[in-house]
Amino acid sequence: MVTRVTILGATGSIGASALDLLRHDRGRYQVAALASRRDAKKLAALAREFGAKLAVVAEPTAYGELKDALAGSGIEAAAGRDGLIAAAKAEADVVIAAITGAAGLEPTLAALAPRRRVAIANKECLVCAGRLFMATAAAAGATVLPVDSEHNAVFQALSAGPREAVARVTLTASGGPFRTLPRERLAWVTPDEALRHPTWSMGPKVTIDSATLMNKGLELIEAHHLFGLASGQLDVLIHPQSVVHALVEFRDGSVVAGLSMPDMRLPVAFCLAWPDRMDWPAPRLDLAKLGSLQFEPPDAGRFPALRVAREALESGGAAPTVLNAANEVAVEAFLSRRIAFSHIVGLTEAVLERAAGEGLTEPTSVAEAIAVDHVSRSFAEVLVPQFAAKAS
Ligand code: MG
Repeated sequence: MVTRVTILGATGSIGASALDLLRHDRGRYQVAALASRRDAKKLAALAREFGAKLAVVAEPTAYGELKDALAGSGIEAAAGRDGLIAAAKAEADVVIAAITGAAGLEPTLAALAPRRRVAIANKECLVCAGRLFMATAAAAGATVLPVDSEHNAVFQALSAGPREAVARVTLTASGGPFRTLPRERLAWVTPDEALRHPTWSMGPKVTIDSATLMNKGLELIEAHHLFGLASGQLDVLIHPQSVVHALVEFRDGSVVAGLSMPDMRLPVAFCLAWPDRMDWPAPRLDLAKLGSLQFEPPDAGRFPALRVAREALESGGAAPTVLNAANEVAVEAFLSRRIAFSHIVGLTEAVLERAAGEGLTEPTSVAEAIAVDHVSRSFAEVLVPQFAAKAS
């Protein structure tokens, strides 16, 4: 049976992993729709290679270029919000939702449909509107599969016992490039240094989030929504080799862990083939060759993002939505060299404090999520110059 696949975020890192996998089994998989932010040329080339029915650029100004690049191919071109929604709703068995940031929320929600698998790589979606997303998925009869490596490992390990027997779930974190950097140097690291992740190859947003460990904070909130776990059942463990992705401890003391080489194609392959398994030349785990694996508790002083994210999770309401928006602005401000690395989390926390008195509530619709996202972004933008002044 042929599996029809749509990829939202086709020209990004997850999109590249998914398409690479599809090249290994062209007979079993067909591409329905591909969408990307603005890279019309690359998108058109991929749409032609895989015989997609629809190609969509989110950026309306890139539509002309996309249409020209697809001329004579018979592939439909579209752009903007309506185009993204059309791609999300196109006939498909699996939708890989890999649009980074809160921008991915609306198309990912639109992808939820009966009997459809939505492989969610966009953790911001779950952080900024997790309850809304999971409730919409349940009502639609869609299956949500986590692409995030830690959550994918949790998903697989959870099959070892009943859900009510789960005592604790531990997500591992590599610790990023600055795990052992002297603390006084941490304030002045550059975007280039922060973009050099020791084990994973990923997009810029998640790579910076991994360097601050905000990524793991967002993942705590993601796990809370995906698996219905309370903050007290969720732990973080530093593990520099990124081989053990997560551990699920059951109430009898048994621990089931998910291990693999750190390669995002592995969780993507799981989601593409689920509940079957894909045949492909996967990088194999060789523990004898690795010799040893290290584990240590996270350094709360070095990585305040974990505390800030956990507080947002425990406060609930609009706090996770605010956290996500503020962090997106802060990461962007760091990448454009407007604020220092050490101010990413400080700025995010300042926005949470600023927003706390505003009476914002947990989003129950896309419109509400976008409204909280926007107001949080504007608070963050106002604060950027203050933090920029501190850096100079
Ligand atoms: Mg992850």
